[in-house]
Amino acid sequence: MTQAFASQKPYETERDTASPNRNLAPVTTCLDERDRLMVGGCLLSDLAQRYGTPLYVLDEDTVRGTCRAYRDALKQHYPGPSLPIYASKANSSLLVSSIAASEGLGLDAVSAGELLTAFQGGMPGERMVLHGNNKNDEELLLAYNNDVTIVVDNQHDLERLAELVPAGGAPARLMLRFTPGIECHTHEYIQTGHLDSKFGFDPDLLESVLRQLVGKPWAKLTGLHAHIGSQIFELEPHRDLAAVMADALKLARSLGHPVEDLNVGGGLGIRYVASDDPPTIEQWVKVVADAVTAACRDRQLELPRLLCEPGRSLVATAGVTLYAVGSRKTIPGVRTYVAIDGGMSDNPRPITYQSLYTCCLADRPLAPAEETVNLVGKHCESGDVLLKDLPLPTTQSGDIVAVFATGAYNASMSSNYNRIPRPAAVVVQSGSSELFQKREQPDDLLRYDVLPERFRALP
Ligand SMILES: *Cc1c(COP(=O)(O)O)cnc(C)c1O
Repeated sequence: MTQAFASQKPYETERDTASPNRNLAPVTTCLDERDRLMVGGCLLSDLAQRYGTPLYVLDEDTVRGTCRAYRDALKQHYPGPSLPIYASKANSSLLVSSIAASEGLGLDAVSAGELLTAFQGGMPGERMVLHGNNKNDEELLLAYNNDVTIVVDNQHDLERLAELVPAGGAPARLMLRFTPGIECHTHEYIQTGHLDSKFGFDPDLLESVLRQLVGKPWAKLTGLHAHIGSQIFELEPHRDLAAVMADALKLARSLGHPVEDLNVGGGLGIRYVASDDPPTIEQWVKVVADAVTAACRDRQLELPRLLCEPGRSLVATAGVTLYAVGSRKTIPGVRTYVAIDGGMSDNPRPITYQSLYTCCLADRPLAPAEETVNLVGKHCESGDVLLKDLPLPTTQSGDIVAVFATGAYNASMSSNYNRIPRPAAVVVQSGSSELFQKREQPDDLLRYDVLPERFRALP
């Protein structure tokens, strides 16, 4: 299987439909009778024409497919209850919250904004958790008042909650996050499980925190949480995590805490370029489920409910970004730059993490490469390079470029750098396309600017 997918091109229709994170392109990607790219039954260049560029396109079938892959694999491989939770920071929107809710998933939020987006998208509070290493009172109260489980990250969370939960009120449902001391191979900025991390309690402090919470009327400790990082291709760190968490579970229960939930975080990687080779969703879930089951049996623990928190692997592959080609600059003997009408403001991952992507021309995906170019954005940074040393057919101004696997950590990490409005986003399914995020307009960017009175008088 690994071999077959390693040579994959985004437009090839042989793909892993059971595990969309293994593909370069959405599961519905195909060519029309004129060999132009279609996703969700829609011609990509038509979408660009109709909605403008840059444009984020999200394939509904791919998102639903990954939701079901997680849910089904948990049901199949874990003998106890389970719940996959969508890490909404990957793509926080009413639409994806609504899809996750309708597929029976829960959701993790990290701010008041993500909480409100999920509530309004129809996600029930009881299926949600609130994360964050520096939650404010507004966020804690919003979670508490809507039955969202609060993932306690540090003493500050506990101090604030002790004060905020009203005397005689229901206790806050808490999950305790600790650093499991597990290293994995991913970018330094997205590792979170090693000891030197800003997230969670140090494992040495776990016992004292568990003791501190005994008998506190404002707190009900119902879960334990750890997350080891993101874009991980290895399975061993997830296997190792199970034993560490089962030890913590045993300790917590021995102190009388009613811990039902074990939340192993997210982190499964996806295929951004052909050489990436992530495990399937089922392989990942099986390793986690088997390891938790075995670790609990060894310690004679009743099986907890197993929660996991996929973000990237749930939505990244469903997304395609469309850009229009504009200017070009050729420096003879050095390089050719082809500029598109977006860049680091709609996709900050290349400049932040040196991330790689795959792209092709929407209407000529099969055309042979004629030159090697740097595909660059329109921002005032030399580092605003979307794809380096990219073999491409010769492009004209107006050609539409499709960049794949942009459904996670693109829109949600976008900015207005250079006062560039954020792109629109559309969801596609069975030939229909619907707007789910409106395109910002330059005027929108002035909405929060205020010129104080004394600056207004002209000289
Ligand atoms: C970011 C994050 C996730 C999701 O990670 P992915 O790599 O996108 O699956 C899950 N849990 C926590 C606590 C996170 O911070």
